[in-house]
Amino acid sequence: MPSTPPLAVDALHRSLADWFAAEGRDLPWRSPDCSPWGVMVSEFMLQQTPVVRVLPVWEEWMRRWPTPADLAVEPSGEAVRAWGRLGYPRRALRLSEAARRITEEHGGHVPASYADLLALPGIGSYTAAAISCFAFGIPETVVDTNIRRVHARLIGGRALPEPSHTAAEARLAADLMPAVDHDGGELACTWNAAVMELGALVCTARSPRCGQCPVSASCAWVAAGRPAPHYVPKAQAWAGTDRQVRGAMMAVLRDSDEPVAVQTLLAGGTTSSASAASDAAGTALLHLGGLAADLVQRQRCLRSLLADGLAVDSGVGIALPH
Ligand code: SF4
Repeated sequence: MPSTPPLAVDALHRSLADWFAAEGRDLPWRSPDCSPWGVMVSEFMLQQTPVVRVLPVWEEWMRRWPTPADLAVEPSGEAVRAWGRLGYPRRALRLSEAARRITEEHGGHVPASYADLLALPGIGSYTAAAISCFAFGIPETVVDTNIRRVHARLIGGRALPEPSHTAAEARLAADLMPAVDHDGGELACTWNAAVMELGALVCTARSPRCGQCPVSASCAWVAAGRPAPHYVPKAQAWAGTDRQVRGAMMAVLRDSDEPVAVQTLLAGGTTSSASAASDAAGTALLHLGGLAADLVQRQRCLRSLLADGLAVDSGVGIALPH
């Protein structure tokens, strides 16, 4: 990737910090009053899910479990139930496990260091850096999908980053971080948040709004005439996938007060069986029954939910974990 002279990088830092101060969204986990636990919960939820879907679930989660210790004493099935339709519900199980470890090993306080965070369940390098930076002001280099895309365009002159994270991208991200000498890393943490926000709001995957971008005059991709992507990204299928069937089964389990019979879960609902269930469970059963999935796929999905610990066989039916 082309290198950027230090003076130009300083100007990028200032431009994006100013833009972020004016245009950054006022999200509750960015509030100075938000606890490190609130930041951690938001990072778990935001890993695969857009802000607009995360907001109501995060609010309810923090009302119910304002500290790791509050969640640690609950059955993990309650975390899975509260996760609702955010998708990838193994994140809820991991968050529940992480809350227990924080309570037992860190006195109930989310640890600040990258290494301690990385040792917790469900936390990879991105999430550890993000929590360290956004909750504690430690200037770790944060690299998520949005940041990778902005870097690829702004510095690399390409429409898209490489399909998977490369060592060159990691080096570039580290090189672009503001120095920490004068302010203890405040600008570095702002830079991480600002680039991420630019990718979410302006430099979006499908239709970048370069006319409203605070750094368009420095953008290598714009200067190159906005060349087409150098590969075609794989579309993420949903209909007919195991993810769709697993999600429909999880909705039935979340909405049922009692264990659900295996046969019911494999077949989904008919109008008569669904009407015997509660409203929400009946709707979820009808949806599951309407999916174009054969018995083999349904059995495979149920087995995988059991293997992942997202569901348990209670002896009288399938339920969320205890
Ligand atoms: S000018 Fe366009 S492509 Fe370049 S960083 Fe801004 S929004 Fe992204």
